[in-house]
Amino acid sequence: MQNFELINPVKILFGKGEIAKIKTQIPSNARVLMLYGAGSIKKNGIYNQVIQALDGITYIEFGGIPANPEYAILMKALSIIRQEKIDFLLAVGGGSVIDGTKFLASAALFEGEEPWDILTQGIRTEKGMPFGTVLTLPATGTEMNSGSVISRKETGEKLAMGGPGLFPQFSILDPSVVASINKRQLANGITDAFTHVMEQYMTYPIGADLQDRLAESIMNSLIETAPKVMQDPSDYTIAANFMWCCTMALNGLIQKGVPSDWAIHAMGHELTALYGIDHARTLAIIAPRHYHYFLEHKKEKLAQYGKRVWNITEGSVEERAKKAIEKTESFFHSLDIDTNISDYTTDYDGTAKKVSNALRNRGWVALGEHKLVTPEAVHTIIEACY
Ligand code: ZN
Repeated sequence: MQNFELINPVKILFGKGEIAKIKTQIPSNARVLMLYGAGSIKKNGIYNQVIQALDGITYIEFGGIPANPEYAILMKALSIIRQEKIDFLLAVGGGSVIDGTKFLASAALFEGEEPWDILTQGIRTEKGMPFGTVLTLPATGTEMNSGSVISRKETGEKLAMGGPGLFPQFSILDPSVVASINKRQLANGITDAFTHVMEQYMTYPIGADLQDRLAESIMNSLIETAPKVMQDPSDYTIAANFMWCCTMALNGLIQKGVPSDWAIHAMGHELTALYGIDHARTLAIIAPRHYHYFLEHKKEKLAQYGKRVWNITEGSVEERAKKAIEKTESFFHSLDIDTNISDYTTDYDGTAKKVSNALRNRGWVALGEHKLVTPEAVHTIIEACY
């Protein structure tokens, strides 16, 4: 096991009715900016619950943060934060709203001229404006970590940022919200969370038994929960399991003491930036090809995953590893997720070159646990995704 440091200060308030406690989590003299997305919270009742819970607190609203939180829109929120002397942010939404809020928490205290530098120059956020979240769409795990991904249409970029100043002060997870989520978003959430676990697990054995078992448990639970939550998202028990799996998949716990990959996400972000393909779907496209390409380096973990998660016991290590990749792709298909770029766009010629060039231009010489995911490797992997 590798050395590690672990800190996760996020207070989780989990369960039915917990949204009512927001006020007890925010300083009574705070000036709050409440941020949300396209407005689904106004249809599913969450908006009203939050407004009631904020009674007596000074707040203003900023709606309209889109999926893949857009820099230009967030900059409008930033000027409101400055004009209105906001000192606390409240994100009510899914991964995009929460990630956008993290960017604002960082940008509000950023001393440089151009907040986009935080992303292009990889500036870590040591201190951010305090913020809380009310999660409405389980998927990314951002409600319990200090990372964020922001998009900028103008430049076709989608970049990550983070740092210890970007942990939420609190996150409210009420599984009742799952009842109103459509099948497409549920499938995306399951796929994103599942791939988060794989990115931190599918590397090479390092003797971290507990981390492996925790990761396998999350994958097993997601596989078991997936068809049930797709069938009936209003079942509270099922929704609660789904929601907690997504959070546990990326709150830092299973990543401690082990190598991790994250090349699938790096490539996936480029596909989203190029074609607007949903984040989770880009991962489902790339993961099987990535694992095939690096079979030699990942076969032992793939075979272990095959045995413990998919019950694959026959054949050599290679055979079991390959079967495990097949099972993974079938799992995505079972959620109605297509796994070829051509399923999403007819204009895919040259994608491999565009993605490998984009990564090269960012100065990323090589990604992955062995730093073997070079622009050349990326080219071959993406070409196999057509
Ligand atoms: Zn993801």
